[in-house]
Amino acid sequence: MASPIWLFDLDNTLHNASHAIFPAINANMNAYMAKVLGEGDVPADEQAVNAARVAYWKRYGATLLGMVKHHQVRAEDFLREAHRFDDLIAMIRAERGLARLLRRLPGRKILLTNAPHKYSHDVMRHLGLHRHFAKHIAIESMRVHGQLRPKPSKQMLRKLIAKERAPACRYILVEDTVDNLKAAKTLGMRTVWVTQYLSARANLQHHLGHLPPPGLTKRPSYIDVKVKSVRQLPDNLYKIR
Ligand SMILES: [Mg+2]
Repeated sequence: MASPIWLFDLDNTLHNASHAIFPAINANMNAYMAKVLGEGDVPADEQAVNAARVAYWKRYGATLLGMVKHHQVRAEDFLREAHRFDDLIAMIRAERGLARLLRRLPGRKILLTNAPHKYSHDVMRHLGLHRHFAKHIAIESMRVHGQLRPKPSKQMLRKLIAKERAPACRYILVEDTVDNLKAAKTLGMRTVWVTQYLSARANLQHHLGHLPPPGLTKRPSYIDVKVKSVRQLPDNLYKIR
């Protein structure tokens, strides 16, 4: 069969974002949302911010989309404020051997991340992985008919498939977020679930009302292969092809 086209997620797939980066993003987002949702100079309280986060996440799949739609927030402002770090490089935790893994893996690789471009570019450079990717698709580029459509948008994935001019079955999405894998599978892509960084993330998503609950790491039917680490991809290739 034709060589695969890999779509790699970044956060909690290629590095451990739950270690320090996600907690910082959450704190930044909360502070920014408190400001936007507040009255005049008085920021909204924690309860109001959490309620909005849960509601928008459930309704739109991303807090950002709800803030853009209901509070006239500019996406680029929200993303910039959420990804403000004192020392990003010091916060990055990743496994060794990822560059070697990507070199060994046959096929074209595309980075597909719901994170903003500057942040993902900085992380990829620090990890030394950018040169292994033919393309870098960050959230700013995930637009359909002018609207921001991040993962798990099927419209966005369909547009990507059309642009790459390859049938859906050639793509393999490698991800930690099951909703994104589910959408990809519906379109006929193949799917790999990376689970090692999941527990902290799952706890947080559960806390925010975004299921599945922590502890659920059984392989659902829309996932072709489940691995702890992307480093196990070469040994599991036979299950995907
Ligand atoms: Mg992820």
